[in-house]
Amino acid sequence: MTASATTTAFSRRGSILHVEEVPLPEVAERFGTPCYVYSRAALTSAYQAYQAALADRAGRPALICYAVKANSNLAILDVFARLGAGFDIVSGGELARVLAAGGDPGKVVFSGVGKSRAEMRQALAAGILCFNVESVPELETLNAVAIELGRQAPVSLRVNPDVDARTHPYISTGLKSAKFGVPFEAALPLYRRAAALPGLTVRGIDCHIGSQLLDPAPAAEAATKIVGLVDALAAEGIVLHHIDLGGGMGIRYRDETVPSVAEYLAPLLAVMRDRQEQLLLEPGRSLVGNAGLLLTRVALLKHGEPKNFAVVDAAMNDLARPALYDAWHEIVKVSDGGTPTPARVYEVVGPICESGDFLGHARELSLAPGDPLAIMSAGAYGMAMSSNYNTRPRAAEVMVDGDQAFLVRRRETVEELYALESPLP
Ligand SMILES: *Cc1c(COP(=O)(O)O)cnc(C)c1O
Repeated sequence: MTASATTTAFSRRGSILHVEEVPLPEVAERFGTPCYVYSRAALTSAYQAYQAALADRAGRPALICYAVKANSNLAILDVFARLGAGFDIVSGGELARVLAAGGDPGKVVFSGVGKSRAEMRQALAAGILCFNVESVPELETLNAVAIELGRQAPVSLRVNPDVDARTHPYISTGLKSAKFGVPFEAALPLYRRAAALPGLTVRGIDCHIGSQLLDPAPAAEAATKIVGLVDALAAEGIVLHHIDLGGGMGIRYRDETVPSVAEYLAPLLAVMRDRQEQLLLEPGRSLVGNAGLLLTRVALLKHGEPKNFAVVDAAMNDLARPALYDAWHEIVKVSDGGTPTPARVYEVVGPICESGDFLGHARELSLAPGDPLAIMSAGAYGMAMSSNYNTRPRAAEVMVDGDQAFLVRRRETVEELYALESPLP
């Protein structure tokens, strides 16, 4: 195994890959495959890396709002809630999850371009920290909904700083051409408008420029633009309480050079130094991505020209990232011992009827049918983006904590997949 997906929580002992103290073959045996496996210790250390990097803002404590969409399992939310995290949500459903997991609504920020009136009511009733408003119509609607409920909605405007995050176009969100946020030039008049609306309380400002960012410069550039705007607002008497600089820090999937959290945040924190506003961040992938893997088994091997195929029991419905973004995930054998079969170069594919259903191209592995495999770095945008395509029950999810493994989502049954449907009368 290369260092790519490795944290201390995932290690080989002898020939057997372990998550913390638990051998993965045991997990495969006990819970079946495919199965997502998370490490509580890895989640905790990822969160603590942010806490440590932000510690020098102790006078004005920063708030780490975990982006729930990266992995919304209640057990994951529970781990972060207990560590004191806030949450960045994008739907009423995610708010319900945060509350069910014991999260503090007073630490929730609500992002997203299309919040419904019902979601606005739900979030106002729960008493969330802030709505990150992305358009003029949303500002007007939120004002109206808040007045109906006799409340004041706390708002930030999501401002589009027009910086190039230099990442995959599907996950770059901070350019002018993106659907997200309000244009930088429009922000000042919009804040004046927001401040004048009786149902709103202007609390902060927000931006989020993209995902899987490895270069700290774009985030610092965005921060510089944002604080300039904050100062311009203050000069007009609109004083903001917090600055939310979004998420987006990348992780190592393969051989990327990835800065530590402290290194990534340093230029951004330099921009924020001596500022009185509270700093909010919305990390998703960097908190969970390398804290989870997808455990699968080789179903059968098809050896032939020009390609060899390893058909495994996980597929694009379980992990969409390879099919969707051509993303690379390390694939390793769970048990490296035993009689070695000759290594071959495999296309690692799922059983789904789509040519795009692959998990890895051209992987050199020595495999036998039944071998358990671990698809690494699958904690973020894995289960969260899974589907029931081909009427495949979604995978089980397991959380390892020390020498214990807990089932935190049981595998779906086929009957459940059509339980909401009915034939014609
Ligand atoms: C997706 C998203 C995040 C989290 O992004 P990561 O790349 O997973 O850190 C944070 N904020 C907003 C508004 C998002 O849409």
